[in-house]
Amino acid sequence: MMKQSMDKRVTESGLREEVAKLGDKYVSVLQELVCCPSAMHDVTNCIRLVKNKMVTLGLDVTQPVLRDDKTGISFPAVVGSLRGAGVGPKTFVVNAHVDTAPVEDVSSWSSNPYKAVIANGKMYGRGVLDDKAGIAMMLLLADAFSHFHKRLPATLLFECVSGDESGGHGSKACLDAGKLCDAALVIDGADPLSIIDAHLGQVWLNLYFAGKAAASCSARRVHSPLLAAVSLLKGIEGQVEEWCCSNPSWEGIQKPYFVNAGRIHSGTWAGATPERCEMSVQIGFAPPVTVESVCLKVNDMADKIAAETGLKFGCNVDLLCHDAFASRDNNLVEMLKTVIRDLRGGESPVVSHAVTGHCDLRYFRRNDGTPADACLYGPGGGGNPHACDEFYEISHFVPVAQNIATTILRWSS
Ligand SMILES: [Zn+2]
Repeated sequence: MMKQSMDKRVTESGLREEVAKLGDKYVSVLQELVCCPSAMHDVTNCIRLVKNKMVTLGLDVTQPVLRDDKTGISFPAVVGSLRGAGVGPKTFVVNAHVDTAPVEDVSSWSSNPYKAVIANGKMYGRGVLDDKAGIAMMLLLADAFSHFHKRLPATLLFECVSGDESGGHGSKACLDAGKLCDAALVIDGADPLSIIDAHLGQVWLNLYFAGKAAASCSARRVHSPLLAAVSLLKGIEGQVEEWCCSNPSWEGIQKPYFVNAGRIHSGTWAGATPERCEMSVQIGFAPPVTVESVCLKVNDMADKIAAETGLKFGCNVDLLCHDAFASRDNNLVEMLKTVIRDLRGGESPVVSHAVTGHCDLRYFRRNDGTPADACLYGPGGGGNPHACDEFYEISHFVPVAQNIATTILRWSS
């Protein structure tokens, strides 16, 4: 009797051994994921791949979708669950995103971004670090826990989401579908010794100026929408500088305001002034600035330019712009720090920090609507996310997965 109950108990070291055994299998899954492109909204094939793997592992699978009515774009997710023991057990979410940045110019890469080439312990490819290593690690964890979840007093939800790079749509789809939790760990954007527990606010704008074209020799008679867009951008840059001066830091981030014009399109040739200029802009900000105050400022500046030039101005605000969010050193962060120190003692200290990029932390809620304990951790080191020659340090895969597995086990027990 005694022996049987000992055998049934899941030990931390047993779990870590299991994770280590699964390492190679899921590094191969990572290659498979990189070879299945999923840039921006084009995620159908990759979502199907992940879904099939979840089904094979015996997870209970649901597929929430969020539809953006303004653009008609859908953001699918696939959620696999492993139900724990007892009535209404606590719920722990593991989340990672399948959408990647697009590849702008294949020829600027040293190897094909969709071939998952491995060299010197690094895997190269679009999305390998951000965030397909996160998806592969999530599947590894699901595999490891699938053998004994019925003995855990917690239900585990594995969320593979899309639309993260454009505002967190997939995680919102999960929340809207009633996927509530007590704690959530997002495997994205963090090194083995760093934890993210706060992020800046973000506003994404698609705007345009439009007017009448004229032959280039008559350019002086009209106002160019291209120049109007550039002058609006300069105005926003000035505003960003002002915000940085009046609020020089937030949660450890110095100069926590930025603007980036990532796309500007205007005209067809140099023989005429353009009729229209379209520009996509992203603005990052911290309190006391809010989504509302950013939009007001930009609209004021644009309206002034429109009034001075007689050009028409229009602006589409992305559905999921959000204010800054912080859940500093919550219970999950503290537990994860302790686990990492216990397992990797002697290495440099673990730090938790705010991040200038955006993430989905605000979409994890408890049954009563309050924010769940949540953070970003893993999938480990690498480089060049969103740029050419993106890579992932394969040696981080197993240790980071072991840190997360141990944290889930301690949290559940
Ligand atoms: Zn990411």
